[in-house]
Amino acid sequence: MLGLMQSHSLMISAILTHAARHHGTGEVISRTHENTAHRYTWADVECRSRRLVRALQRLGVGREDRVGTLAWNGYRHLEVYYAAPGMEAICHTINPRLHPDDIAYIINHAQDKVLFVDVTFAPLVSLIAPKIADCVKTVVILADPAAMPEVTLAPGMTLACYEQLMDAADEDYAWPTFDENTASALCYTSGTTGRPKGVLYSHRSTWLHAYAIALPDVLDIRSTSRVLPVVPMFHVNAWGIPYAAALTGSALVLPGRHLDGASMANLLNTERVTFTSGVPTVWLGLLQHLRASGERLETVTRIMTGGSAAPPLLIEAFRDEYGVQVEHGWGMTELSPVGTFNAPKLPQLSLSDAEATRHMLKQGRILPGIDMKIVDGEGKELPWDGVAFGDLKVRGPWIASAYYGDQPGSALDQDGWFATGDVATIDPDGFMEITDRSKDVIKSGGEWISSITLENIAVSHPDVAEAAVVAATHPKWDERPLLLVVPRPGRTVDPASVLAIYEGKVAKWWLPDEVIVVPDLPHTATGKLQKTALRARYKDHYLK
Ligand code: ADP
Repeated sequence: MLGLMQSHSLMISAILTHAARHHGTGEVISRTHENTAHRYTWADVECRSRRLVRALQRLGVGREDRVGTLAWNGYRHLEVYYAAPGMEAICHTINPRLHPDDIAYIINHAQDKVLFVDVTFAPLVSLIAPKIADCVKTVVILADPAAMPEVTLAPGMTLACYEQLMDAADEDYAWPTFDENTASALCYTSGTTGRPKGVLYSHRSTWLHAYAIALPDVLDIRSTSRVLPVVPMFHVNAWGIPYAAALTGSALVLPGRHLDGASMANLLNTERVTFTSGVPTVWLGLLQHLRASGERLETVTRIMTGGSAAPPLLIEAFRDEYGVQVEHGWGMTELSPVGTFNAPKLPQLSLSDAEATRHMLKQGRILPGIDMKIVDGEGKELPWDGVAFGDLKVRGPWIASAYYGDQPGSALDQDGWFATGDVATIDPDGFMEITDRSKDVIKSGGEWISSITLENIAVSHPDVAEAAVVAATHPKWDERPLLLVVPRPGRTVDPASVLAIYEGKVAKWWLPDEVIVVPDLPHTATGKLQKTALRARYKDHYLK
């Protein structure tokens, strides 16, 4: 027997109309290209997004067309976020930090018809224009006429100014309702494992993910919150915050392109931000600035860090010096992106500071609505004892079933689970901790060694700024760990003293066979260690 409840499609436009109707005066503040503050409200976002639909229609954009963006976090980008899916087109956010060849590849793969581009990226678009001319017909600069930059396009492409298009359009548009499983947004993985692959979100997956991340034990976003996503809107939908903020009616502060410590401190305090989210690099920059300037964080109570492992220093320094709680989450492009979040259960409330820091290194508990498990090499499920580690698999309604262009379900195993490529433990309270990515784990004599555990210990050495552990082929043990360390500015690293700090922290056979001091380490476009390059360079090191 079916239930007798109404059936309404979960439309992204309904998130925005809810915000406009019930939180119409809620603020959306953006720092502009010129470093000034642009302020308007959720009611304005809704109204301007309707106007943008009309402008898109005039550019020939229709159902299922891909609308690309190369843009920082700002209000015009937010309008594209809502207008494109609202009219049944697809908002395709592109990471401008990728190599230009990858950007051109992604645009062609997605077949973007229109590109919305921030002034900063005008030179980039001029560079790749000849390579994308087959699909991109119009490049719209997110600016008013006075700020239009020089752009050289290829024959057949047209340049347009966002505010001119908006002035010429009217807002008499009624948001349509259609199947909630319709595609809404497209985002490519950063390609650390080969060519970038597209993840195609739906209206339904976006709604459910927004509901889940707003929960008290997750980002805890409310109408009284003031939220600043430092994580870019071109990187997995700024972790879903542009949607969750509208859903809850919280104020949304969009930082634009200045993400250095001084700019962040200034914006967080001026706009009375209560919660902010981003990758560890940004928070380390903010910490450095606060320590050097003596400034305080006046209103921020919680900082979410994710995207790569949380450094213990970050958790301790913000708590002990600034009274701010650093909270750890984990996710992937394929998970919309949030999968787990580290919010305490009752037992964690009585932990000492040192224990709480250790606990916060865990990536956290699965969000309700999705599920996870760890399995061994044969696919057998492993116990949740906090010790056994294996491949982490997930399933649920905001997790990809296939990549863009592939058959539905093709990214899943026969039981419908998606292999994350991460290796993890899960403790009896359900807190997951990543011990490695499956391709980075070191297989020594048939046993696994976690490269991340070894890196975390290395960076606790006072002379070490950054560390990478890679598997190098070994004649006897198959693979052995090799540690690369970057010294802190003005310091020198003594390899023997680095090895000494492993004493008592890991089993003897986990110890790196060698420590090499290097001036720097390669990073991907999203700031993660580029282990592929390091592995290629050092894989034969122990054979020499
Ligand atoms: P890509 O896989 O292309 O680098 P994503 O941004 O989707 O792009 O990255 C997802 C991966 O980032 C995860 O599979 C995991 O390895 C890593 N990651 C994300 N959050 C964390 C975290 N909190 N701690 C450790 N690793 C993380």
